[in-house]
Amino acid sequence: RGTPNAVLHIDDVHKSFAGLHALSDVDLEVRQGETHAIIGPNGAGKSTLLNVCVGRLKPDRGAVVFDGTVLTGKSPHEINQLGVARVFQTPEVFPDLTARENVMVSALSKRDGHFRLNPFSNFSREKEIRDEADSVLESVGLHAHFDVAASSMSRGDKRRLELAMGLIQHPKLLLLDEPTAGMARHDTNATIDLLKKIKEAGLTKVIIEHDMHVVFSLADRISVLAGGRIIAQGTPEEIKNNPKVKEAYLGD
Ligand code: ADP
Ligand code: MG
Repeated sequence: RGTPNAVLHIDDVHKSFAGLHALSDVDLEVRQGETHAIIGPNGAGKSTLLNVCVGRLKPDRGAVVFDGTVLTGKSPHEINQLGVARVFQTPEVFPDLTARENVMVSALSKRDGHFRLNPFSNFSREKEIRDEADSVLESVGLHAHFDVAASSMSRGDKRRLELAMGLIQHPKLLLLDEPTAGMARHDTNATIDLLKKIKEAGLTKVIIEHDMHVVFSLADRISVLAGGRIIAQGTPEEIKNNPKVKEAYLGD
């Protein structure tokens, strides 16, 4: 509604679970190229909102519109094909595949039709995808893990793997649910640096994050969810000084 350059519109979304209002009256707009953080206490509805955006949950009311297309009612796969990639709170990778294979599979499932038919029938194409997978894995700091099965990687490394799986799809919008949870400080800082680089490249991101150091390092704007409602929205500076936000975090 009137936000300049908004690329993602979340319009009046409601979602209940057996009488529990996980999301009520949620309106949110994400601008082209920005990093928009969603913060809020545990149980605020952050993951539910992300799951509504990616098609895993149907809202009871309201709609999500991305790049002029109504996402509500589309499958997660269809939404992914429209250019929306995501990193979930619980990493979702193929446990029996290596890191490289996971990233290659993700590249092949992307929308962009030209890898679709008999993707590995052409050796040079397989090599091309493998080379790109390796360079994306390097960029997320997993150069030592190309041939390691995902199942034997740490939780923090699985998150970085999932990030690599998102990046190789060259998404228009990247949704991240607590991407640094379970990471050591050193890896968290490396992830912040990587996400900053991605931002310079112009990719629009929505990041759900508990770690305020990460939020204030990355966000252009912040929306605060509490009890399923947006209680504040603004720049990091505005959010830091908002008394409603301080109140929502008491007792968290
Ligand atoms: P956050 O990510 O902000 O911690 P969630 O979106 O995971 O919060 O959860 C919001 C509320 O909805 C919580 O009270 C949670 O218990 C509830 N909830 C989330 N998913 C489900 C579900 N699939 N079934 C029932 N309740 C759920
Ligand atoms: Mg969550």
